[in-house]
Amino acid sequence: MRSLRLKLILGSLFVLGTVIISFGLFVYFAKSRALLSVMDGRLAAGVKALASHVERDSGRLIFAPAEDYDIRGELPPAYRIIDEQGREIARSAAGSSPAWPVERPVEGRSLLATMGTGKDGRWRVVTFSSRISGEQDRAEENEPSMTPAAVVTIQCATPLGPISHELREFVSQLAVLALAAFLIAGGGSFLLAGRALRPIRRINEALANVSETRLDERLDPRPFDKELHPLIGQLNAALDRLEEAFRRERQFTADVSHELRTPVAGILSTIEVLLRKERSEKELREAHEDNLEIGRSMQSMIERLLLLARMDAGKASPRRQSTPLAALVGEILAAAGPEAQKRNLRLSQDVDAALRADIDPDQMKIVLANLVDNAVRYNRPDGSVTVGARRSPEGLVVEVRDSGMGIPADQLPLVFDRFHRVDSSRSEETGGCGLGLSIARKIVEAHGGRILASSGPSGSVFSIILPEA
Ligand code: ADP
Repeated sequence: MRSLRLKLILGSLFVLGTVIISFGLFVYFAKSRALLSVMDGRLAAGVKALASHVERDSGRLIFAPAEDYDIRGELPPAYRIIDEQGREIARSAAGSSPAWPVERPVEGRSLLATMGTGKDGRWRVVTFSSRISGEQDRAEENEPSMTPAAVVTIQCATPLGPISHELREFVSQLAVLALAAFLIAGGGSFLLAGRALRPIRRINEALANVSETRLDERLDPRPFDKELHPLIGQLNAALDRLEEAFRRERQFTADVSHELRTPVAGILSTIEVLLRKERSEKELREAHEDNLEIGRSMQSMIERLLLLARMDAGKASPRRQSTPLAALVGEILAAAGPEAQKRNLRLSQDVDAALRADIDPDQMKIVLANLVDNAVRYNRPDGSVTVGARRSPEGLVVEVRDSGMGIPADQLPLVFDRFHRVDSSRSEETGGCGLGLSIARKIVEAHGGRILASSGPSGSVFSIILPEA
């Protein structure tokens, strides 16, 4: 299981463990070095004390401490004194002693060594070489001669057992301390991790209060630590977006229901009126024609809604291909021809025959058909509609210009909203449902472009700007 609390506890224990172990090792080695150097000091004192009691007697080297001198107080548990030939001059009383090292230091110097193996079988040994000065030969006083100086080697040893014992005790004390520190730190980090994670629980509780019906709830960052403020800001921004998306969704559902209610009511009332009495063939035909028209406009609206839904879900990305614009515009204008003729409108195009665009031709046809359709429907009798295209520094610009009634300035930013109509009575007359421009904008944006509307007393201009790759 992945748990933040566990990770925090284990992380802090790991750091503490590393610190304790490094500190313990340092203290252990420092202490063992200190104990050993005290021991070495004692051994050095021992060899020097022994050396001071070696003297010559009739040419022989002897170990002769003064009788009233308590040498044992100064001496380590094991020692021996040997002459240059390796003969033992003196040694410690019976008892254990180490395997004496054979190496000799230079005169006046000491050699330290650790001998033996096993826990208590190890000894610390110091070997010291000392010069014993020559003596005057007592036997021949008349012809005095000097016995040459000699070198003796003195070795003293102490078992390392007591030091090992002291160090083991020290290690167990350290272990107890480390365990106590671990337990205290473990408990402490458990509590601290709980405290550190408390804000997450509070954020969680606050978010649990947010529901579809209470989307206006926001988190107040003030009671939280400042490190959490950006997170809370992001959560609140996400809630803002969610609330806006829900609002649009509700609005959209309400709009669709409203848009469908009117035509359905129209169909129902036509049928009800029909059924009241016997109808002539002509009356029946007219009623069916009315219903057919309403049905067609409902069908067109549903198709537009489906297209918008597919585009919202990202399922209708443009399939671009190099498309000759003049041909595409020609096709759209030809389709709008009959309707324009009815209103006595002049349709024209101003597109260079060589102009090509990297667009999805089917989707761009929907856009241009909507714009030309609007330019025809919201025009004046005997007016005109012109479709032009040109390259500009911003990209490819396609314009649909009409000589119609125009759009009030305050309505211009709204015309691309779903179901928005500048004048519903006028749209009803012309059969629009307020979805054409929102579909056009969606398609142009999917092509990476933008669509703008401008309008004046002499008509409106819808411009599509497509950046060139
Ligand atoms: P509709 O299907 O109602 O035409 P659109 O989304 O195409 O829906 O247009 C939205 C509204 O913008 C229209 O209802 C109309 O009031 C206004 N409009 C669009 N194009 C023009 C235009 N060329 N001239 C005047 N008004 C326009």
